[in-house]
Amino acid sequence: MDLVARLRVIPDFPRPGISFKDITPLLKDAAAFREAIGRLGAACGNLDFEVVVAPEARGFIVGSALAQALGKGFVPVRKAGKLPAVTLAGEYQLEYGASRLEIHRDAVRPGQRVLAVDDVLATGGTILATLDLIQRLGGVVAGVAFLIELAYLPGRQRLGEYRVFSVLSLET
Ligand code: AMP
Repeated sequence: MDLVARLRVIPDFPRPGISFKDITPLLKDAAAFREAIGRLGAACGNLDFEVVVAPEARGFIVGSALAQALGKGFVPVRKAGKLPAVTLAGEYQLEYGASRLEIHRDAVRPGQRVLAVDDVLATGGTILATLDLIQRLGGVVAGVAFLIELAYLPGRQRLGEYRVFSVLSLET
């Protein structure tokens, strides 16, 4: 199945110069969504980990579907002020802008093995901030998984020390 054909590319969104990869056409196609999660699960299913950790918002869609498919738990990483219990926070840079992410302090146990998931790997800032939170809680990053990797940005190089999986690698 051609999953790339199910993506919609929006030029200059949300800022001039950003080629936004919209996954909503893929998500609303049941067979394509299942195929995408199946391929991601097959790519990283042999990893030893207990929970998926994913940043909002599209990371929740991909991460929770993958967690269900692989029989794992799910931990949300959220923008500042959204999580109700005691949190740990970190600042990060986006391809477009800066932000602050939080995780519940009891969400990951010391030594617990984790798979970090997001929809798109762009500059890597979001996922590196997520990995930093996991590691500050004592978690062990078993791997990092994305539906889409933007090969024209330096995300994968910045994740050099981790095992990185993606379903679609886009050159433009
Ligand atoms: P980054 O932190 O630069 O790796 O950006 C990754 C995060 O921003 C992901 O959560 C994506 O949802 C979103 N994102 C960044 N760039 C794009 C893009 N060109 N198309 C779609 N989503 C993007």
